[in-house]
Amino acid sequence: MRIFDPHIHMTSRTTDDYEAMYAAGVRALVEPSFWLGQPRTSPESFFDYFDSLLGWEPFRAAQYGIAHHCTVALNPKEANDPRCLPVLDALPRFLVKDNVVAVGEIGYDSMTPAEDTALAAQLQLAADHGLPALVHTPHRDKLTGMRRTIDVVRESALDPELVLLDHLNETTVKEAADSGCWLGFSIYPDTKMDEDRMVAVLKAHGTEKMLVNSAADWGKSDPLKTRRTADAMLAAGFTDDDVDQVLWRNPVAFYGRSGRLQLDAAAPGDLHEGNSILRGGE
Ligand SMILES: [Zn+2]
Repeated sequence: MRIFDPHIHMTSRTTDDYEAMYAAGVRALVEPSFWLGQPRTSPESFFDYFDSLLGWEPFRAAQYGIAHHCTVALNPKEANDPRCLPVLDALPRFLVKDNVVAVGEIGYDSMTPAEDTALAAQLQLAADHGLPALVHTPHRDKLTGMRRTIDVVRESALDPELVLLDHLNETTVKEAADSGCWLGFSIYPDTKMDEDRMVAVLKAHGTEKMLVNSAADWGKSDPLKTRRTADAMLAAGFTDDDVDQVLWRNPVAFYGRSGRLQLDAAAPGDLHEGNSILRGGE
């Protein structure tokens, strides 16, 4: 089984996770830039973070046979902090990098005017750069947030075919599907969506344009939720081909629109800018 995790925050994960993911079948992933859990106080700390998503983290992933790509953006939560807004002006110099396969995560957190502005500006940036966009839908007040998100996408220059609406659930899947966007589901250990509910969604709505991710980060999460969903699909009577479509071909088709996917993990070099993962380099 081959698995592409289209949304996972590896910066927050350990090498044990990389090892277990490879053993479970994960061969490629996308790491969206996001909120780090503590407010950043200057644009420069975003730039160092983006650089690590473009350099150090792909290097680390390659040690474990996994192809690593990223998305960059000003995340919805920090779009509310005026100190962070210069990130919007600096994004173009990151969006031209080979490993950047989308603008993201963008979208709404609390649905403020500042978030409106950042979302619209970054959908425009995606359109200008011929890139897809990864759009986070809010965890609170989900249906309202998703409707407002779809309205902003419709008003933007970006084709819905280039938009992935993420963190969907049973209440939002139907309207999200009608919008023409791709459909992302984050599977969590004990909150929000789980793998059995995901299987029920796939039975009701089919496997077209459906993507499943672990969204694993610094909170309680499980980087093997992609594999667990695949196993739950097989147990429920889906075929190997259905699993391959949802867990591999769909994410490859979506992020492939960037023209930048490199699915063979680069042969791991020993050093990244003079540093190894061996602290002190025995
Ligand atoms: Zn995320």
